[in-house]
Amino acid sequence: MSFHITPSGKKLVTVIPGDGIGPEVVESTVRIIEATGAPIEWEERHAGERVFLEGLPSGVRPDTIESIKKTRVVLKGPLGTPIGYGEKSANVTLRKLFETYGNVRPAREYPGVKTPYSGRGIDLVVVRENVEDLYAGIEHMQTPGVAQAIKLISRKGSEKIVRLAFELARAEGRKEVACFTKSNIMKMTEGMLKRTFEDIAKEYPEIDSWHVIVDNGAHQLVKLPEQYGVIVTTNMNGDIVSDLTSALVGGLGFAPSANIGNEVFIAEAVHGSAPKYAGKNVINPTAMILSGVMMLRHLGEFEAASAIENAVMVTLEEGKAMTRDVVGDEKQAGTIGYTDEIIKNLGKKPTDWTVREYKPIKLHHFAKDPVWVTPSSRKDVGADIFVESELVADQLGPAYEKAIEGSPVKLKMISSRGTKVYPPTDVLTDVVDIWRCRTIMSDPAQEMTDAILLDVLGRLTAAGLRWNHIERLMEFDGEQSYSLAQGED
Ligand code: NAP
Repeated sequence: MSFHITPSGKKLVTVIPGDGIGPEVVESTVRIIEATGAPIEWEERHAGERVFLEGLPSGVRPDTIESIKKTRVVLKGPLGTPIGYGEKSANVTLRKLFETYGNVRPAREYPGVKTPYSGRGIDLVVVRENVEDLYAGIEHMQTPGVAQAIKLISRKGSEKIVRLAFELARAEGRKEVACFTKSNIMKMTEGMLKRTFEDIAKEYPEIDSWHVIVDNGAHQLVKLPEQYGVIVTTNMNGDIVSDLTSALVGGLGFAPSANIGNEVFIAEAVHGSAPKYAGKNVINPTAMILSGVMMLRHLGEFEAASAIENAVMVTLEEGKAMTRDVVGDEKQAGTIGYTDEIIKNLGKKPTDWTVREYKPIKLHHFAKDPVWVTPSSRKDVGADIFVESELVADQLGPAYEKAIEGSPVKLKMISSRGTKVYPPTDVLTDVVDIWRCRTIMSDPAQEMTDAILLDVLGRLTAAGLRWNHIERLMEFDGEQSYSLAQGED
């Protein structure tokens, strides 16, 4: 990756102060980096709440996008996100626009920060997939009372994150990578990451690799966190698990992160904009400062990075000027006092912390080809046709069968919220007003052509059955490409 060098020979970085406590933690970080004399120049740009308020629904200004396209390196404060509906998260937009497909979140025990785990030597890093999964943000209201999000996980996306995790382990001299998924339940989506992990692990024989079901992973992390080195996981799992790991070492104030892609690097704290603390000089800037350290390493400024890391650890070890989250309201030195102390401590080394030996991470090159997996055969065996209806299953089933009478298809079953309810099952399943009608060819040797599918849809409409969503049922290389409903044989 090449950096933008300014006329004065410095590396140009886009700096986004962000919302809430963002400007304070970013200012601390910039002051400390400048105090090291690292050859960095800043280009300030904006995203987040103030941009939403300017009327830009993406929350990211065009000049911010232009700046990142030029610098390829960003130091970003947290951005506030409207919750519930309406605008997208500007954070997620930035991560996705620039294909920063990996979110790297280290959690290591800090000197001088007492937690129930102190002394156990926690030293792990969560590598979270950053652009796919439920965070792809593909949502629809199926009916006025039923919402749906598409959980999209690709083989290509899984390869990217798994390779990043193994390469990061190599660059940091770590000996193990665990993969956390929920593949026992979501065999196709979460299972995609597990299968990819198991395939790619073979290329890293010197690294111990194993799979953990994510709920047990959360349990293990609370019970025996020191057993983990690198944890690679899907976007949603990673979001939750990495907040958990940050709490093990002192909380969100101590959780740095980097969004990494082949083109762009975005350093940001794991925490949000904590608006209730904005402008009060009480917030802990460590997470942002250590994100800045990750950025310096990315820029090849290893010396400045280690100097800052050491100075932070000396400050924590000495405990003379700490923030509210560590020592409480009475004794806190404030964000500015803590930052001043770190600057004073530049050049010193802590007694109880050794800076890890870092090498640059080797990022694998991925072709832009959208087709990543090509089967040698495929077959259209039917379609799941989702029908919105106030009828109950015992009425809808016969009405649907009547509508398709005489066509070459049959109704295999109807499910509600993933559970088979027709033909009647005589169990206690509750239902909602969207019904998945699994429609397959009566003769399994035949394929469901577009003409057959369109004929079926026409018949449903004519019978007053409102279809609003279709998923084709396919077989790739003779293997079923869809899951069965609960209770379906
Ligand atoms: P949050 O801003 O992370 O704050 C949650 C709590 O974490 C705070 O109330 C505080 O706990 C603690 N905390 C966070 N940062 C801290 C720090 N630097 N030092 C000490 N304590 C810290 O989460 P939120 O309140 O759920 O979200 C607020 C906004 O931020 C939302 O709009 C959300 O969408 C956005 N957000 C942005 C990002 C991002 O930009 N990457 C990430 C997450 C959330 P106590 O109350 O216990 O003191």
